[in-house]
Amino acid sequence: MRKISSQMDNNKQTNVFDQIESMGHEQLMFFNDNETGLKGIIGIHNTTLGPALGGTRIWKYENEQAAINDVLRLSRGMTFKSSIIGINLGGGKAIIIDNPKAKKNEPFWRRYGKFVENLGGKYITAEDVGTNTQFMEYISMETKHVMGKPFYMGGSGDPSPVTAYGVYLGMKASQKKLTGNDSLTGKKIMVQGVGHVGQYLIELLAKENAEILIADINEDNLKSVTSNYKAEVIDVNNVYNTEMDIYAPCALGATVNDSTIDNLKCSIIAGAANNQLQDELIHGRKLKEKGILYAPDFLINAGGVVNCYTEIDGYSKEKTYGITDNIYQQTIDIFNAADNSEKGTQEVALEIAMERINSIGKIRQVR
Ligand code: NAD
Repeated sequence: MRKISSQMDNNKQTNVFDQIESMGHEQLMFFNDNETGLKGIIGIHNTTLGPALGGTRIWKYENEQAAINDVLRLSRGMTFKSSIIGINLGGGKAIIIDNPKAKKNEPFWRRYGKFVENLGGKYITAEDVGTNTQFMEYISMETKHVMGKPFYMGGSGDPSPVTAYGVYLGMKASQKKLTGNDSLTGKKIMVQGVGHVGQYLIELLAKENAEILIADINEDNLKSVTSNYKAEVIDVNNVYNTEMDIYAPCALGATVNDSTIDNLKCSIIAGAANNQLQDELIHGRKLKEKGILYAPDFLINAGGVVNCYTEIDGYSKEKTYGITDNIYQQTIDIFNAADNSEKGTQEVALEIAMERINSIGKIRQVR
């Protein structure tokens, strides 16, 4: 598997074969159904450790290249996420293009379930941005390769609370590394994106009496937080100019980029969003130079995939939280490993994840 920069330009059309070759993907499956308006892509990055599991995102993409870039980056991220948290899953993800013809009803999701079924278990789907447990139930009518089903179906339900818990542990581990004490009491924490994960994270931060700042483009979600917790609303355009101790990106990816990085006024970045660094190598190293501690996103947001993983053999809350608890120590270990090198923490985490894939790949060849 080659190591490549994760930077991609949505406005520059790229040869798909060049892209999947350089990123090391095994397979891309484009699908379309005129009847339901369903159209999208399933990306399977690497199945060395097990079937490729990753959620399905439904989103209005600016163009087709943006959709391709998103599925490639997200599916690759899942490979490393499952590897670093020590579970036996490969990396995959699916995107559905939200378009005026997309009906998003039962036939729509069941048709999608048939496409997942066509892959014979090589890809297992779950929830992501824009999807929910009800949709997983529809998908499950056509395939057993779907996790994140509702509790009443024996599923693991919404993964967001476990994801938020892992992010919270990653944040505490960062604070511990920085100050020797992991308390978040009184720390100014900006939660950018107060959707599913953001709101569960705020619940944990409020219990610890953190000073909470929030920013979101969705007024209802902002109100839902301010009606339950003491939180200051920050304009979405002022996030990167605001003084804070911890920046927690919990909306979409690539918010740490050339235009934001020099403005950031925080000492820690720890959030739920996937692919927070627009370029994992360049921006990871730049954060280090600036003295900002970066908690690797794919490690601290791994609680969600763990939740789905334990559903495969019959959901267990104890097992899910037991595995997720490891995030605290793993985050500290990665910070320590990055201490004596110029490498960024994300880069070090990627190397550790890749090392597990390579070594397990080798023992799998032995009988
Ligand atoms: P969500 O859709 O419920 O919430 C996202 C929130 O971000 C929404 O409230 C949305 O309005 C807001 N948002 C969008 N653009 C914004 C912007 N420019 N500025 C501020 N807010 C903006 O999604 P979620 O399930 O909470 O996931 C959040 C992030 O965490 C995503 O990147 C997702 O891929 C990642 N993640 C989620 C899980 C999970 O278990 N849900 C697991 C791993 C990673």
